[in-house]
Amino acid sequence: MLCLFPLQKGEIDGERNSKTMSENEKDKKETRVQGSGTTASSSKKTDEYEKICYMCRRPESKAGKMVEMPGNISVCTDCMQKTFDSIQGSTGMQYADLMKLSNLNFMNLSDLHGEIPQRQKLKKKKPKEEKKVDPVFNIQKMPAPHKIKEKLDDYVVGQEHAKKVISVAVYNHYKRIAAMDEKQNQEVEIEKSNMLMIGPTGSGKTYLVRTLAKLLDVPLAITDATSLTEAGYIGDDIESVVSKLLASANNDVEKAERGIIFIDEIDKIAKKKNAHSRDVSGESVQQGMLKLLEGADVEVPVGANSKNAMVPLATVNTSNILFICGGAFPDLEDIIKERLNKHSTMGFSGELKDHYDKEKNLMTKVTIEDLRTFGMIPEFLGRLPIVFSLEELSKEMLIRVLKEPKNAILKQYECLLAMDEVQLIFEEEALEAIAQKAMEKDTGARALRAIIEEFMLDIMYEIPKDDNIGKVTVTKAYIENTGGPLIEMRGNSQLTLP
Ligand code: ADP
Repeated sequence: MLCLFPLQKGEIDGERNSKTMSENEKDKKETRVQGSGTTASSSKKTDEYEKICYMCRRPESKAGKMVEMPGNISVCTDCMQKTFDSIQGSTGMQYADLMKLSNLNFMNLSDLHGEIPQRQKLKKKKPKEEKKVDPVFNIQKMPAPHKIKEKLDDYVVGQEHAKKVISVAVYNHYKRIAAMDEKQNQEVEIEKSNMLMIGPTGSGKTYLVRTLAKLLDVPLAITDATSLTEAGYIGDDIESVVSKLLASANNDVEKAERGIIFIDEIDKIAKKKNAHSRDVSGESVQQGMLKLLEGADVEVPVGANSKNAMVPLATVNTSNILFICGGAFPDLEDIIKERLNKHSTMGFSGELKDHYDKEKNLMTKVTIEDLRTFGMIPEFLGRLPIVFSLEELSKEMLIRVLKEPKNAILKQYECLLAMDEVQLIFEEEALEAIAQKAMEKDTGARALRAIIEEFMLDIMYEIPKDDNIGKVTVTKAYIENTGGPLIEMRGNSQLTLP
């Protein structure tokens, strides 16, 4: 318990009185060691450690600002308050009287238990320096769509149509916001450019959106539609997507209101066929998303996924949030094929029934009607006016994905080995073999990283062992497990790792 010991005003500035001279000397020595005292280096050392409340033992980062007291003692404001309250309770002293305690001084508590030892103190966390990165594009003054696509080209291989559509949509979206800010074009209300992106796994849907958000420097939230359920059921509320966006905008509502929300696996919330019970994760989620997509004020929990009494709420307006939904829509091809076959087999110019069976990238022929047959409700589709598809990556495209993007995986490994002054070379046939292996896995570009990591492990482990190695060539034989990579020493002699 905190002890209070009244002193006369004149005595306040001096050192504590209830000690002998020798004790005071000892104390002074100790304080110098602990760092509260005189030498600059020792005070710097204690500055690195957090203060700890003498009463509850919580560190400054938990308990908040500390009240400094003589004898190197810190007490948190909570404990200070509790002490005042208990004094008030037991002595009947009023607050005004307690305030007069500023004319009193505290007895040296460290005499009772000693100071908190250094080994019980936590080192303070160094404040992170926030790097200010200038965005490539200024959303207040959007560049023309071809400029946006040019930048996307640096990162995303192929998918020309998708990049074109997305560049125009984003351009229009932010132009619309700018027009609304300036209160122009009041008569003609421009619709939101929410998008629906259809493409197989690993074709770059998420990557495209991520790249876009990075270039625009707007917050991005990525959610999986499968985790969403109607409010009140197990799973995440639909509004949790906005909550995520707010978190990625560092709780800045204004910034979040200009962000992008990407909802992946949207095909998983299609209306269930022959559902006998309430469809809480399918059609109801589509219904629940309608108002978000259109634009509404939603109350979202700050720093949590669901609303409860302990979480503060913030109101976010979704009118200017760009929603992009993506999905693989696996059975959609059959629906498109069926429709096309039905049309083509009618009349004199009828084509053979299997005419479209071998057609690649049928997804590009998708219509709203097909999506409705798939199980998306018309109101939902109406709020996603821009529908486009991504192609399945071919072997050639996979090879390009390996080496062309700005942050291509091969470039990353080359860079890592260059730090050890080792040159890393990939034979063209080796790249082909990697792409072939990835094609067999049928997960698009996603398989590439796993394959590369598997065989790069040995290289990354062995090479730094020997300082004489100057060059490593990854061969086709190494990828196919029939040989090893080619190693060249700095003096130009060659050997092959087993
Ligand atoms: P999905 O279509 O399933 O969302 P992702 O966008 O997650 O696929 O792609 C997985 C990874 O594959 C990405 O992180 C990216 O590195 C790579 N990738 C996929 N498509 C491309 C592409 N067209 N250009 C460059 N990299 C790509």
